[in-house]
Amino acid sequence: MNQQTAESILEKLNGVYPHTPDGMNFLKFRNPFELIIMTILSAQTTDVTINSLRDELFSAYPDARTLAQAKPADVERIIHSAGFFRAKTKNIIGTAKMLGENFGGVVPETIEELTTLPGVGRKTANIVTNHAFHETYGIAVDTHVRRLSKRIGFTENTDPDKIEKDLMKLFPKKWWSEINYLLISHGRAVCTAKNPDCKGCVIRDKCQSYTD
Ligand code: SF4
Repeated sequence: MNQQTAESILEKLNGVYPHTPDGMNFLKFRNPFELIIMTILSAQTTDVTINSLRDELFSAYPDARTLAQAKPADVERIIHSAGFFRAKTKNIIGTAKMLGENFGGVVPETIEELTTLPGVGRKTANIVTNHAFHETYGIAVDTHVRRLSKRIGFTENTDPDKIEKDLMKLFPKKWWSEINYLLISHGRAVCTAKNPDCKGCVIRDKCQSYTD
């Protein structure tokens, strides 16, 4: 797909899913620490679930120091509904400890530093840099971005890191922070995993997977 067609698709979606810069993240965080922890927890579950446990989790553990000292069983009880709660507890306590040991208890602002933390890959690092620090270094590729990029024809790859590279080549940087929001929105509303509504899709004339 050429750049002009690809950009016209995002422009179309941008008209359907309007947003403000502050409204682009589906996680309702209040500071960078909350965002990184909530993003780690959001793997394989919904943002609604993670938003619902935010207050209890951060009332008990408001910062890296307190979470680093938490008893795993107490954290597991609070985040149980997020799924994979044992692994996620290990990762968020591990991240809190490493924030204290290596970064003075503060969430770092670069992809390179962020991806040294347990449970933090490029997707999470891109979300944190983009939404907590308003810096765009790459594109967060989650399950919706992955599925729609392949279906629409933005990429032939399935590996998230390769998809991110393809998207960064295809789109000028001005779109990088928007792509995640637009494809998640369209993936939830129309191009769902099991039943994409191709007939009602506003980008069907440009999508390589359109079927009537
Ligand atoms: S035409 Fe179908 S497959 Fe393509 S983006 Fe729209 S809903 Fe998804």
